Amino acid sequence: MEVPQAEASRFSGEIIGYQDHENPWDALQKAFGQRGVHNSVQAALETNYVPYRIVENLRSIINIVSINPVESYIEQLRMLKDESEIAHMKKAAELADYAINVGVENIRKGRTEQAIIAEIEYELAKMGYPETAFTTMVLSGEKSALPHGNPGDRQIQEGDFILFDLGFVANGYCSDISRTVAYKHVSDQQRDIYYKVLEAEEQALNACQPGTPLGELDRTAREVIESAGYGEYFPHRVGHGLGMEAHEAPSLSGDNHDPLQEGMVITIEPGIYVPDIGGVRIEDDVYISKDGPVVLTGYDKSLIIVE
Ligand code: MN
Repeated sequence: MEVPQAEASRFSGEIIGYQDHENPWDALQKAFGQRGVHNSVQAALETNYVPYRIVENLRSIINIVSINPVESYIEQLRMLKDESEIAHMKKAAELADYAINVGVENIRKGRTEQAIIAEIEYELAKMGYPETAFTTMVLSGEKSALPHGNPGDRQIQEGDFILFDLGFVANGYCSDISRTVAYKHVSDQQRDIYYKVLEAEEQALNACQPGTPLGELDRTAREVIESAGYGEYFPHRVGHGLGMEAHEAPSLSGDNHDPLQEGMVITIEPGIYVPDIGGVRIEDDVYISKDGPVVLTGYDKSLIIVE
């Protein structure tokens, strides 16, 4: 039933369809037979995505002598983006900026995290972008100190940090942005944390030159945060590759010695999360051009105190 959709996709291989009332495995067995594929085949599979049950079904219609995972091959293909992919990612980044704007405009005393998420996703869906890159995050107050917390019914209060982490999909490509704002007022410590994260982020962004070892980006941000005394409150790597999925190659962990290459799109997202006080994360999407970093996301990064 989905042959027309499959044909409309970017897939350039052969498409074999079957009717709803047919057994797809019979159809596949017949298709193998018609092409002289009978026995002892080597299979190339995306083993991260093909469920074991499907592999069992395949084995029931053909003798698979070996399964070769193709993840690393596809990972390499996807890591370096061409011009049209960069255009889609720019669009996705524009949506992310707009979504942060909607979120900030919707901060009200007593409004819940979930209510703000609903406003963001409703606005973007009306614009024709109903697909998020991952579960939209709005975390407030002490909950902002949980780097991957679950948004819920906590209500916005004065003195809160409100941490947004969200992304939208444009033409199959994802954005991923984090911004943290305050509501009504901030303490000196909150202000200090905010500007340390911003300094760490900006220094790591400046280090995004082709040829730089990927791990150096993490170390650059971490040094700023450690020398400010917050090292133990930065528990995650500084970023990751971005593309058709919100997390893909390369990884920006401190021990990755591979070089940053022209055509990569990565996130830079240091954070400081202090229990009970709250957390700050500032995240941008960066395209590595031959002339250096091009930051795709652009929402204001000065400390915004929502009135
Ligand atoms: Mn991210």
